[in-house]
Amino acid sequence: MRFKKLSELERPEPREVILATLPQEISMAHYAKAKAFKINELVREIHQESYEWYGFTLAEKDNPELIADIGLPRNDQNLQDFATIGPERIAEYHESLLEDTIINGWIHSHGALKYKHFSHTDEENQATVLDFVTARLRWVVAKKEVPIQDLHLLTKGEFEEKELEKGSVSLITDAAISEATIMETIYGGFCYSIVIDDEGWHEQEIHYKERGVLSGHSTVSKRRSDIVFIDTGRSLTEADIMLLSKEVEEKIQPNINPPPEIIERM
Ligand SMILES: [Zn+2]
Repeated sequence: MRFKKLSELERPEPREVILATLPQEISMAHYAKAKAFKINELVREIHQESYEWYGFTLAEKDNPELIADIGLPRNDQNLQDFATIGPERIAEYHESLLEDTIINGWIHSHGALKYKHFSHTDEENQATVLDFVTARLRWVVAKKEVPIQDLHLLTKGEFEEKELEKGSVSLITDAAISEATIMETIYGGFCYSIVIDDEGWHEQEIHYKERGVLSGHSTVSKRRSDIVFIDTGRSLTEADIMLLSKEVEEKIQPNINPPPEIIERM
């Protein structure tokens, strides 16, 4: 007697057709980079100390992959080494944006800290931003077979209600069929995450979230990425810096007496 090879006994992989690829590297306008590091400078200049702050990376709706600008929301509290983002803050900031501008990620600064990687707090913030961004920015990335064991085929108008008790899924068609493959849409979204410091250092990741529309199966993943800087023809002018100074003055709120629960997390 011949035994089948193990690979033959395994069920075949569900069929998947890739329809779009989410960005594999970050592209950012020179203008946005200059603005991010200018915020660091202005924080030190205006608040006489280096503080952590966060902002959002912004894109045009029809070019969601390119970071065209940096948006500075009102930061809840800026300590020397802690900055936090709440979902309601993102929503509030999102509301204030022009119709054709979207949030495609977030950026924050470690200021003068020598901590040159993403922290645990950063990961929590990241999850909040990823959920918000991918709820609005989602592409059809694939069609994937939903493997159904015991699919029960029925013909419209030709079955009794009782027959619905059979099978794990009932597929009702207008003509009798003997075979069916069900493929679900996989929606995917991405969100950039960049961390910088006062000295020009930066590190960045792209976070992804995918979800099957039928199965509800969702996956989250991330990759470290380089940044490709793009010349969009826009540069940071003196007028831009004037406006940015006002924003930094109003929106960055140094908190020198943090509540105890925050001290514990530092
Ligand atoms: Zn951080």
